[in-house]
Amino acid sequence: SDHNLKYPVNPEEMDWSTHYPAFLDEGEELHLQSEIPTTPTSDEQLSKPESKVVRPQKMRKQVEVADIGCGFGGLLFSLSPVLPDTLLLGMEIRVQVTDYVTDKIRAMRKQDATGNSYQNISCLRANAMKFLPNFFRKAQLSKMFFCFPDPHFKAKKHKQRIVSATLNSEYAYVLRPGGVVYTITDVKDLHEWMVQHFEAHAAFERVGAEEQEADPCVAIMRSDTEEGKKVERVKGDKYVALFRRVEDPEEP
Ligand code: SAM
Repeated sequence: SDHNLKYPVNPEEMDWSTHYPAFLDEGEELHLQSEIPTTPTSDEQLSKPESKVVRPQKMRKQVEVADIGCGFGGLLFSLSPVLPDTLLLGMEIRVQVTDYVTDKIRAMRKQDATGNSYQNISCLRANAMKFLPNFFRKAQLSKMFFCFPDPHFKAKKHKQRIVSATLNSEYAYVLRPGGVVYTITDVKDLHEWMVQHFEAHAAFERVGAEEQEADPCVAIMRSDTEEGKKVERVKGDKYVALFRRVEDPEEP
């Protein structure tokens, strides 16, 4: 159940400064103690009327890339140097896995003598099937990754799949026109399901094979995700599909 998951009431309430301290707006000072704490809920804030609500600190950049169900973070670590000026966020529902990725990011940042590496990646615990618009504004994201999502093989479990008509509307909301959804899976049936649901959605069109293969993120998604490596070891197939968020039609 999700009742112990914490969400901001809206994107304005989300404090990213502890996730990406190197991207704090100049002039702002980091006043929080811990490096990457969980987000305070507004419920907590509201239940304590005497404590004044601390406005999140201003950031020079906003999160633009989301890795949905990031697992152990292989994609984040590899994309970090490829997109050095972009903030990337992994969202993961399993608490131990989220903690592992958070600790690894902290360690990798410390290890780096320049102090610049891995400052642009972070991870938080969330059920990405719910509340995405609590974290991200409309059209905030330029890329969303769905790497080896849980297949939920049985027909009666299909409604738990992370791609569906309803969820695709949420993804369309947080993605900017021109933004791209990246999908990869070793399960052919799930690949076909994702293609069918994105192609059926008016906000998305499939990206052509040539453009797909020229995109450096695609090679990384194939080779550097933990699941991608597993599938490689057993010489399994990997099915890739990309979908562009199209412009909304003009209002009449
Ligand atoms: N993307 C990683 C990779 O390619 O190696 C991990 C793939 S793993 C098969 C699927 C991951 O999605 C798991 O870590 C699981 O905990 C996470 N997950 C499943 N449902 C989720 C949800 N609703 N929100 C966030 N993460 C979820």
